[in-house]
Amino acid sequence: MLDLTNFDLSSIPVKRDMIEAEKVAHVQLQNPLEHALLVLTKTGYNAVPVLDLNGRFCGIISKSDIVEAMFGIEQIEVDKLYENTVEDVMHSDVPTVSEHDTLEKALHVLIDHSFACVLNQDDEMIGIYTRREILKQFRNEFYEQQSK
Ligand code: AMP
Repeated sequence: MLDLTNFDLSSIPVKRDMIEAEKVAHVQLQNPLEHALLVLTKTGYNAVPVLDLNGRFCGIISKSDIVEAMFGIEQIEVDKLYENTVEDVMHSDVPTVSEHDTLEKALHVLIDHSFACVLNQDDEMIGIYTRREILKQFRNEFYEQQSK
């Protein structure tokens, strides 16, 4: 059985295993929704971070945010993809972690969110920490214990 007594999440920095910002697909505030839908479709992700022109974190946009924005009164209105920007439909009230946080903080955020953006002191996004990564940490701990 997995014994987590000595698995100290508060000693592992999120920076160690995050996906670096250069490898993170993102969109910008002023991009039209059409561009965001293209990014989400081509990458296969459900949601990606939204940044301003200086790389500062502004929020997250998901496929369902875009589809919801396309609903008119009677039908889907494709024009809305060109009329609206990412800023109009994104969510900015999402929890983030700081570059000095540990997996303990990330774990709490990842209960309700599939990834957490890692920000530096200037609110620039330096990476993301995903559910997949935290599950890998638990798996590694499990196998390490089994091999003892
Ligand atoms: P995962 O735990 O690997 O399934 O990732 C969880 C979520 O994190 C994905 O559904 C995406 O929304 C986001 N994500 C993971 N990797 C990337 C990436 N390289 N660029 C942008 N978003 C990502």
